Amino acid sequence: QKLGVALVGLGRYSEGQLGPALTETQHCYLAGVVSGSEEKRRQWQARYDLPGSNLYHYDTLEAMAGNPAIDIVYVVLPNALHAEYVIRAAKAGKHVICEKPMATSVEECRQMIHACREAGVLLSMGYRLHFDPFNKEMMRLGQDEIFGKVKRIVADDSMTIEKEEWRLDGALAGGGPLMNNGVYCVQAALFVTGELPVAIRAEFSPKTRPDLFRTVEEGIQWEMEFASGKKAICESSYSKDGNLLRVTAERGWFELDPAYEYKGLKGRTSQGPMEFPAIRQQAAQLDDFASCVKRSGASRVPGEMGMRDVEIMMAIYESARKGGERVTLHLEAYQDMI
Ligand code: NAD
Repeated sequence: QKLGVALVGLGRYSEGQLGPALTETQHCYLAGVVSGSEEKRRQWQARYDLPGSNLYHYDTLEAMAGNPAIDIVYVVLPNALHAEYVIRAAKAGKHVICEKPMATSVEECRQMIHACREAGVLLSMGYRLHFDPFNKEMMRLGQDEIFGKVKRIVADDSMTIEKEEWRLDGALAGGGPLMNNGVYCVQAALFVTGELPVAIRAEFSPKTRPDLFRTVEEGIQWEMEFASGKKAICESSYSKDGNLLRVTAERGWFELDPAYEYKGLKGRTSQGPMEFPAIRQQAAQLDDFASCVKRSGASRVPGEMGMRDVEIMMAIYESARKGGERVTLHLEAYQDMI
């Protein structure tokens, strides 16, 4: 039997990706929505044939506790609202998926994990790339040392933003391109090396549009250092477009360009092109979590992984604020999570 998913926040990602993905999933389907707009609730009801009893306003989310049609709540709101809604969904007894980045502070992540544990529900991140065949191949090539030991990683995830939106409001976004895009570079560096970073050095890019980038950085570059000597050189900006992951190893290289998009990924290695069928990443991710819920097994992208990445991003900001000073990380608690 398929599990019911309710999307909280009906913005671009829900509309363009998650709603459509939930029509392709085997283990779950779109059962309900939570939105502040009555018009949007009605549009979604008509489009996905949702019963009126499964439409909620943000203020009435708690009423889901008595609705057995909703098993999983998927929080797709601006970053600073993730913590509140994950905690409220957990208290209503629902399993939760949280979009990236998990939250705007490590403390919030801790509270989210605690609330889910207390409620006895599972918490997963919306980390779709762990279910993408090209990115899974990068994990295999790196972690299994198919081209020998990895030496160096270059990752760039950037996208141009031209006009005001919540992503440019530090209070709602928790930061700029690092929080929105850079999280993919952080993830990639860890899943290719299979290691946790021990130190960070970072620098903000100069602001070319101070009118637009008032409360978040316009761009940031950082280096992640691993105990084995591997290095990842990463970049994220709102003033250019970039989307790549290049890995140099002892006996060859492998790369994705584009690397982090929903589709159209292209991969090559020093031995030739990567060939994989196109899939809808979000459908694979949702189905994996629904299967975890059915068998009461932890997600492979759990809340703890989201917290780990927020901890790394906070260290990147700390280093950039200190003008590139080396900031050390102590991530031993996350040792078995890659
Ligand atoms: P969006 O701006 O298109 O939608 C945000 C939604 O939140 C809107 O429906 C808006 O009405 C609602 N909202 C509720 N309270 C709000 C408030 N106080 N201020 C602003 N909006 C408010 O954003 P989006 O692109 O759908 O992103 C939502 C979340 O999904 C973010 O956390 C983002 O990082 C994540 N996301 C993930 C991916 C991915 O590939 N995994 C892609 C896009 C977005």
